[in-house]
Amino acid sequence: LDVALSNESPSPQETITPDHTIFASNPYYAEIMLKLKRVFRLESFRQHQLETILAAMEGRDVFVLMPTGGGKSLCYQLPAVCTEGSKGVTVVVSPLLSLMSNQVNALKEKNVDVLLWNSETLDHGLIMQRLRGHPKPRLLYVSPEKIKDSGALASIFDDLYRTGELARFVVDEAHCISTWGHDFREAYQCLDSLRDKYPSVPIMALTATANQVMVDDIMKRLKLRDCAFFKQSFNRANLKYLIREKKSKIIDDVCTFITSKHRGETGIIYCLGRDKCEKVAGQLRQRGMKAKHFHAQMSSAEKEQVLDEWQTDRIHIVVATVAFGMGIDKPNVRFVIHHDLPKSLDGLLSELNLIATIRKPGERDVIKNLLIVSYVIVKMINNARNGEELASPQARKRQEEQAKRVMEYCLNVSDCRRVQLLQFFGEKFDRRHCRQFCDNCSHSVEMLERDLSNEAKAVVSLVQQFLATKQQVTLDHCRAVFRGADTAAIRDRNHNRLPQYAGGKHLDNELLEQLFKRLCFMEAIDEVSIQGNGGWHNYYLQPGPKALDISNGRQRVVLFYRPKATRLSTTGPKARKGKSDSRTP
Ligand code: ADP
Ligand code: MG
Ligand code: ZN
Repeated sequence: LDVALSNESPSPQETITPDHTIFASNPYYAEIMLKLKRVFRLESFRQHQLETILAAMEGRDVFVLMPTGGGKSLCYQLPAVCTEGSKGVTVVVSPLLSLMSNQVNALKEKNVDVLLWNSETLDHGLIMQRLRGHPKPRLLYVSPEKIKDSGALASIFDDLYRTGELARFVVDEAHCISTWGHDFREAYQCLDSLRDKYPSVPIMALTATANQVMVDDIMKRLKLRDCAFFKQSFNRANLKYLIREKKSKIIDDVCTFITSKHRGETGIIYCLGRDKCEKVAGQLRQRGMKAKHFHAQMSSAEKEQVLDEWQTDRIHIVVATVAFGMGIDKPNVRFVIHHDLPKSLDGLLSELNLIATIRKPGERDVIKNLLIVSYVIVKMINNARNGEELASPQARKRQEEQAKRVMEYCLNVSDCRRVQLLQFFGEKFDRRHCRQFCDNCSHSVEMLERDLSNEAKAVVSLVQQFLATKQQVTLDHCRAVFRGADTAAIRDRNHNRLPQYAGGKHLDNELLEQLFKRLCFMEAIDEVSIQGNGGWHNYYLQPGPKALDISNGRQRVVLFYRPKATRLSTTGPKARKGKSDSRTP
């Protein structure tokens, strides 16, 4: 296994000029450079493109892990149009019809001889004729379903194989073959027999979303051997990461963000469910924005329609589930908003990566990613834990772990967002290279540290009291009691007589909110859902499984926060430098 990993994390948009002197003596090099310029009209390669192409032309299996927009297509399209080292037809398997037709049209514009065969192809005869005749097309784009089901295609492959005219199998969006991924496609499974049927045909697998487990899984399923592995850095230098807490109605937050910073610009809003997409798109339209929804339950005609209107700028905003994204190549996207928390950082990253496509290397098109934390933390973790759609306890456990990582990411207001995200992909990143391109790096006010272990003890004991007296209390109410609020709801229930009443009076609201969130996250307190008569759920507080650790002081609670400039001198906690973990004592 060749591993080409860059620790330096250069941005994928920068055109990396490989040391061409090393390659110049390569027999394929001259034609590669010629075709790059003549056919694709590009000047230079991005990181690992040339290496990938050379390995492919040497007949090796290749695995390419590059963020979306990184330039994976060129890695197989260029070898396919070369005459040296690439005899015959390159077969490209791709999961989405729209993706395939986009690519095929783009290739036709470049005068590349290319065929497309999927469920929408009307004239099979013509395709067979072309594949059996001469000259043969350089590329055949085909859906996995056709490979699985079409006997005619199988016999053509057999013939091509016999005459040595199958240049290469390309499995694009290869994560679809892995059951570990969130995009698993049934039809991709048939690809695991390509190696057995056509053992001497090299295979290239490409994806933007795979951690190590998935890479291994994909390699195993496709039976790749002596595989060259290339990984482009997942840092997107042109993405600015912002995380905001939901303060009002979330749709108001979204609208304010768009109208104040991105009026009339193109963007994507991700939501978790189909209903949510439709609702949010409707709300945006009511407010005069050109928005439409996109989700998996729409017919392909409807999907194509939305995609087309978006590509041609007739609509500005697509409100979508994760079904929207794979392979999208649109240069003028300016913002991506996560209306709901993504289920995993994996998902978050792949959704983010897809939009950062830049054509002119060096140009720093800024795309803002805004993650609005709209969920009650524990609600989210509980949802993952109790998720009915997940059959096995292991799957639920995994989901819960993933949800926790997303929460950690959101709650961590001190470490660079890039450092945090890239770490997830096993990539080291130097915070200084962020150049203040995330919310945590761009603050001018220094982070302060505050030990709230005693206050945490008081909160836990307050919640224990409520349980002991069988009172159902929401998190908001509990926080109000602890703050010492003087409301009817508190007076009526005599909660102003409790010993912990106003125990957090000396803390400002932001810190109080953080404290409660942290305690939820640490599972010192828990929000449990109780179904009301009307069928809706209410969330009430209970002591969590880790309550004791807080009460007996085994677990300390240290928060980092950014005081407003005027408060700096009055609060007096010690300034914090460098980074450390905010959760462990
Ligand atoms: P991926 O499949 O990795 O998501 P694509 O192959 O669709 O990415 O490429 C994304 C964009 O980058 C396309 O517009 C493509 O033309 C452009 N691109 C690819 N390679 C280069 C390069 N070497 N120089 C400039 N632009 C490139
Ligand atoms: Mg692609
Ligand atoms: Zn940063």
